[in-house]
Amino acid sequence: MNQLVERFLRYVSFDTKSDPSNKLCPSSPGQMTFAQALKQEMLEMGLKEVSLDNNGYLMAKLPSNVTYDVPAIGFVAHMDTAPDASGKNVKPQLIKNYQGGGIALGDSGEQLTPAQYPDLTSLHGHDIITTDGTTLLGADNKAGIAEILTAVAYLTEYPEIPHGDICIGFTPDEEIGRGADLFDVEKFGAKWAYTIDGGPVGELEYENFNAARADVIAHGVNVHPGTAKNKMINSMNIAAQFQLMMPSHETPECTEGYEGFYHLGGAEMSVAKSHLVYILRDFEREGLEKRKAFMQQKVDELNAQLERGSVELQLTDNYYNMKEMVEPHFHVIEIAKRAMQQCDVEPMIKPIRGGTDGARLSFMGLPCPNIFTGGYNFHGIHEFITVQGMEKAVEVIVKIAQETAAE
Ligand SMILES: [Zn+2]
Repeated sequence: MNQLVERFLRYVSFDTKSDPSNKLCPSSPGQMTFAQALKQEMLEMGLKEVSLDNNGYLMAKLPSNVTYDVPAIGFVAHMDTAPDASGKNVKPQLIKNYQGGGIALGDSGEQLTPAQYPDLTSLHGHDIITTDGTTLLGADNKAGIAEILTAVAYLTEYPEIPHGDICIGFTPDEEIGRGADLFDVEKFGAKWAYTIDGGPVGELEYENFNAARADVIAHGVNVHPGTAKNKMINSMNIAAQFQLMMPSHETPECTEGYEGFYHLGGAEMSVAKSHLVYILRDFEREGLEKRKAFMQQKVDELNAQLERGSVELQLTDNYYNMKEMVEPHFHVIEIAKRAMQQCDVEPMIKPIRGGTDGARLSFMGLPCPNIFTGGYNFHGIHEFITVQGMEKAVEVIVKIAQETAAE
């Protein structure tokens, strides 16, 4: 079996599901076990400056093999898997030379069908790795790790390919939004980097939402319902009134592409106090500011209308569109595009309707767009990846290193 597939299958055998309820970093012990195994492997590969810190951040370097100045570049992937599905006892199945039709996922009764997943129709002749229908696969993001290390092994094996310093960073807890929290950009040492954490072949992403959270708190008064007349103020009614003031079509279920939204994601309610939690998303920073101002305006209007009780608003920015930080260094994108084209991959540039660790890293001084892994249907039991897609990712990583040295 080729080195890439062997690596990938070995990595998915580690249970590294992150745990949002755990405040520690990494949030689950399995991530540290996996990090230690990777550290050992990287040492055996002869990589330099291999270090694993107490928070589970694993870094290493493949030193430059040229005598002239080439900017150090980085490749980043995450070691954890999504909390949405089990990542324990993953039993991958390899379907060689897929010829269409449904794929049974083990004995689980679950299937991958082209009707449900039209992407399959473009994958005839590919070797597809799926789950057995009881867990996720973990291609997100262990495919990224396998691809980066296979590319680095290739560069080591073919020293005639010129490259500068290649910095490698594997992070914990990306799936619970903490992967960039304790990332030491200075120690990492790259001028820019790529997360290898996207989906189908060709994906290249450098735009994501600007994101804020809005806490709307309605205050009421609780009194025994039997003697409540003219005394009780039911905060739940105030909260409901507020939600009805929000634009009903600017919601996740009514938007796509570059459209932003307001989303009521959760609520805790009682007569005395109700707490609504919204997330606000917009690709433009100015758009996000307008959404925040709109909410404040509605809170003020409601307070003016209310005879009794009150409502307050707290706004917190979460992350910003990395485009702001990547565009001033557009060669970062140009190099990736060129590398893809040289590997016969058509770059597919699309906005991410979410955030990435790369977005946060971009604002920490490390411009960091996202590149495909070759995987599909992340975070659930229908996750799969193709061997050919993974091989393309390896080729693209090698080419990016080579192109950077050729600039
Ligand atoms: Zn991921």
